[in-house]
Amino acid sequence: MIGAGTILPQVGLGPAGYALRGGPGAPVTLFDCGPGTVRGLAAAGIGLEEVRRVVLTHFHVDHCLDVFALAFARRNPTVAAPPLEVVGPVGLRRLFEGGRAALGRGVDDPGRTLVEVPVRAEGTELERPDVRLRGAATAHNPDALCWRAELPTGEVVAYSGDATEVDALVDVARGADLFVCECSHPDDAAEPNHLTPTAAGRLAARAGAARLLLTHFYPDVDPAAARRAAAAEFAGPIELARDGRTLAVAARAGA
Ligand SMILES: [Zn+2]
Ligand SMILES: [Zn+2]
Repeated sequence: MIGAGTILPQVGLGPAGYALRGGPGAPVTLFDCGPGTVRGLAAAGIGLEEVRRVVLTHFHVDHCLDVFALAFARRNPTVAAPPLEVVGPVGLRRLFEGGRAALGRGVDDPGRTLVEVPVRAEGTELERPDVRLRGAATAHNPDALCWRAELPTGEVVAYSGDATEVDALVDVARGADLFVCECSHPDDAAEPNHLTPTAAGRLAARAGAARLLLTHFYPDVDPAAARRAAAAEFAGPIELARDGRTLAVAARAGA
């Protein structure tokens, strides 16, 4: 967990950024790249050269703005940057064209490949040697995707991005060993384009996830209260995200 918060400043909770590593020495995939993610790599013990892929959920700045910081850092002559794949919703090219127009050549990244994924409920699969990805629409906004990542060793991690309580998210999180789910606001201050702790718990239960990690806390969410609310819906273990926390994920026996 590099950034377990939102755009609003809070101690220990930065804008969205999560790193997935499929074992020691394996390539790192970043899920979202909000402001501060590049800086947070150091605290997470991840070198710039280890990041092989960035997977974006949508284009709200708290989820994507550091793609430009990452490009600028990768251009630094002291960095031996390997090829980088950036995956995101349709609109990804427009994001980088706009960044280039506003910020100049410093955010060009010759080692970068862009992969645009359609935003649809039935989902889109991407097969890579180190991970199988599936992105599906969450209806947070017209561009928003949630993601499922299956490692070659069998572990499954799902990430809601910003979401609403849609069947597509249940499908993406189906049987996940870890379901990373936003709960932006408490139940008594619910917003129609975000999840509450209760909704996160309900989704985890419907999906049959093994473990739930609550995240993306706006200041009006008390994480401990969020855990209690989610636990009324979901009987499995519930973790609370915090910048700098690392969780080991094990595949379920027989999975
Ligand atoms: Zn958003
Ligand atoms: Zn958000």
